[in-house]
Amino acid sequence: MQYTWDEIEQHVAACTRCPLSRTRHLPVMGRGDHQADIMLIAEAPGGQEDEQGVPFVGKSGELLDRLLQDCGLYRKELYITNILKCHPPGNRDPQAEEKEACFPWLKYETFLLKPKIIVCLGRVAAQRIISADFKITRQHGTWTYRKNCALTATYHPSAILRDPSKYEEVKQDFEEIVRKRAKLD
Ligand code: SF4
Repeated sequence: MQYTWDEIEQHVAACTRCPLSRTRHLPVMGRGDHQADIMLIAEAPGGQEDEQGVPFVGKSGELLDRLLQDCGLYRKELYITNILKCHPPGNRDPQAEEKEACFPWLKYETFLLKPKIIVCLGRVAAQRIISADFKITRQHGTWTYRKNCALTATYHPSAILRDPSKYEEVKQDFEEIVRKRAKLD
């Protein structure tokens, strides 16, 4: 069974598949261009996303926008989502059962979007999407190919907020993503 974008959003809004449904303020469905070539996937909404129901707002969102702009990309031309659609209290790592409970929603989003490139933002997303032993420090910027999709990972913007020296590395990863998109066109 496959849902439309509206149906996915309605199901996520009403979802009680894991205990985060009891602690979330608002579920956070992915946002962006439904025709986008590039899909960004992070691990879970943060506190401000939980308040507003929108992915990547607040400081991480501002940093992501600056980074994208520095590489000639704009948020409105991408699709941005999380593995979990609800905020884990205290920003803790998502638990395995929460990730599995929520994964069908991400699959429905990916099936509809059919992205040419998937970019995992951070270790948790890379280990769930690319490979369980993915090492973000050593393997960010590397590529894996599945069917018609190229997958890569880079640091989550919150990692740059903690350590601004990572900005250049992430910028280089995104510049390579732009080059990859041009080659795939
Ligand atoms: S995190 Fe996902 S599975 Fe859990 S309640 Fe929210 S939408 Fe449902």
